[in-house]
Amino acid sequence: MAQAIVVRALGGPDVLKMEGITLQPPGPGEVQIRQAAIGLNFIDVYFRTGLYKSAEGLPFIPGKEGAGVVTAVGDNVSRFVVGDRVAYASADGAYASERNIEIAHLVKVPDGIPLETAGAMMLKGMTAQYLLNQTFKVGPETTLLFHAAAGGVGLIAGQWAKALGATVIGTAGSQDKIDLALAHGYDHVINYRTDNFVSQVKEITSGKGVDVVYDSVGRDTYPASLDCIKPRGLWVSFGNSSGPVDAFNIGVLAQKGSLFATRPTLFGYIATRPALEACANSLFDIVQSNKVRINVNQTYALADAAQAHADLEARKTSGTTALIP
Ligand code: NDP
Repeated sequence: MAQAIVVRALGGPDVLKMEGITLQPPGPGEVQIRQAAIGLNFIDVYFRTGLYKSAEGLPFIPGKEGAGVVTAVGDNVSRFVVGDRVAYASADGAYASERNIEIAHLVKVPDGIPLETAGAMMLKGMTAQYLLNQTFKVGPETTLLFHAAAGGVGLIAGQWAKALGATVIGTAGSQDKIDLALAHGYDHVINYRTDNFVSQVKEITSGKGVDVVYDSVGRDTYPASLDCIKPRGLWVSFGNSSGPVDAFNIGVLAQKGSLFATRPTLFGYIATRPALEACANSLFDIVQSNKVRINVNQTYALADAAQAHADLEARKTSGTTALIP
């Protein structure tokens, strides 16, 4: 019998409980996979608490990301065969030892990348890909600020932005995290729990401000993030780790220097097969070039998903985290 974490009521980490589940054979357009690793992502917290609503209501199996080996193939599937090593970042129901999955979500994992790494890097890595290469085209002329620099997305983004030639400023909540971020591409890292990051950014940029701020912290860094941006620069609000930005008045963009703002999500950038493959291949390429190293800094047994969520929310984790079935 397959094992899965099933959420039967919204709430704190303790609602994440392991159960045995009966898996049907894969349907048309689906394959069945045995999972080697499942990615822990902050979005899993939003679904657990109810900040984001699960399409299927309660109960649901959380998680969007994983990697494993194809064990059975449904009708009308020619792209994948039994034995393929595959990964995904956009399919609900990831917290399971085995699962069925629509092939629209799947890509093949290159031989050089372990499944344990792939399972924890797809969502965060493709997010770094689109943020730095599509939402804003980062290059040698770019100076950027990336909040939560030592987090899962943050450590990948720092290395990637450095590989693109940018000047990379980060924020982090402890000295250990600052040191980690400095070792992963960041030129400057500010402790935003003890220091005023706006004045520090102004100092680093000689008063000019940055071209783009990537803000996944949300409530605690808004509206200060806007004060770090140069006139006509871009505010990318892409997460809510401290809570959502509630009272956003579009007029603030005029007051702060004719700024641009966007609130993107990965799923809008990998919605078609060509877009998914381009984004995933770009990630695989940069990982295989060693310009971006994936730090799976925490692994937990899938049964300990509650502890993993508690640690993520308590800001105890850095880099990426894998749940192992
Ligand atoms: P992280 O590993 O970055 O963990 C979150 C980090 O945010 C913490 O480690 C902590 O770092 C920082 N943080 C600041 N304030 C708080 C707070 N009040 N509570 C908890 N953490 C806080 O998570 P992920 O890499 O999984 O995700 C990073 C962010 O990016 C999330 O907000 C997520 O929702 C978002 N995201 C958005 C995507 C999109 O396409 N829109 C896709 C993927 C992720 P520190 O201690 O240094 O402050």
